[in-house]
Amino acid sequence: MKTTLITGIAGQDGSYLAEQLLVKGYRVIGAVRDPKAAKERLPEGLKNSVELLTWDMLDQRRMTEVLEEYRPTEIYNFAAYSSGAGMFDDPVGIGEINGLAVARILEAIRAADTNIHFCQASSREIFGEAVESPQTEATMTNPRSPYGAAKLYADAMVRIYRQRYDLFACSAILFNHESPRRSLEFVTRKITHEAVKIKLGLANDLYLGNLDAQRDWGFAGDYVRAMWLMLQQERADDYVVATGKAHSVRELCELAFGRLGLDYRDYVCEDASSFRPVEPALLVGSSAKANSELGWTPEVGFKELVHMMVDADLKHLSENI
Ligand code: GDP
Repeated sequence: MKTTLITGIAGQDGSYLAEQLLVKGYRVIGAVRDPKAAKERLPEGLKNSVELLTWDMLDQRRMTEVLEEYRPTEIYNFAAYSSGAGMFDDPVGIGEINGLAVARILEAIRAADTNIHFCQASSREIFGEAVESPQTEATMTNPRSPYGAAKLYADAMVRIYRQRYDLFACSAILFNHESPRRSLEFVTRKITHEAVKIKLGLANDLYLGNLDAQRDWGFAGDYVRAMWLMLQQERADDYVVATGKAHSVRELCELAFGRLGLDYRDYVCEDASSFRPVEPALLVGSSAKANSELGWTPEVGFKELVHMMVDADLKHLSENI
């Protein structure tokens, strides 16, 4: 039986991956700061099927002990400050957790078991103000936030440990990936959740930033499947995981409100004070390498994704009125 250790298991990506690996017959261990709090956040179906243990991203010795005791064959690292509006809020904390802690995990792997396969959840924020579009594994990195800088440091360490110590360590350079489990500060979930509230008479309007901002949005379940595939290969490598298609916030509104039989133009207001600067180059990724080497393609398209999120919000909010 394969054993996997997942940090950040109670979050969107960790929980989707845990579900997929349980179906494949893995023993799934969630390495979390606070097992009791993590258990509360886990989706119902996972609460009794994963094991939770205490893991501190600042404590390398404890990491090594955990790896020696539980002997995971695969580790996925999702424990991190998330992107979005908070990317500048705590630059030192972000550097510690999103950056340095990855070096601690790599050191713990070196000390405990060099056969472990490791996947780091990296981010399109390493490209920041991208110098070309679409972005690939070869695109020059140019982070514009403490978040992007920390993720870039982690990627460099992954590559260095692969080269110098022959560790099986990979970075998945994930573009925006969403789901009904996305938190409300991200624009996708903010829109689907508020559109449903409007439909149910619980809200009257929705204030957004720039409606013409564009992103390459995919489904989180597809993206963690790519990460699993990365760890099943003969050779460790880094891969961009993206859909290759950009959509605007306006299209997102159209689809979300449309799903509910509403016209977004009757409810959505653009709020200039929450505009963020528009990126000079389109943030869109090319997954050609993941496609040819891993056989990976996203299964859920943009429209399906938005509908899935609206439907989940509708179900949840209707049941809890
Ligand atoms: P990000 O790609 O990590 O920044 O993810 P977000 O979901 O936070 O933002 C995606 C895009 O939507 C960005 O270009 C934002 O500027 C734009 N956007 C427009 N209105 C809003 C809003 O009200 N909230 C958020 N979070 N983003 C918005």
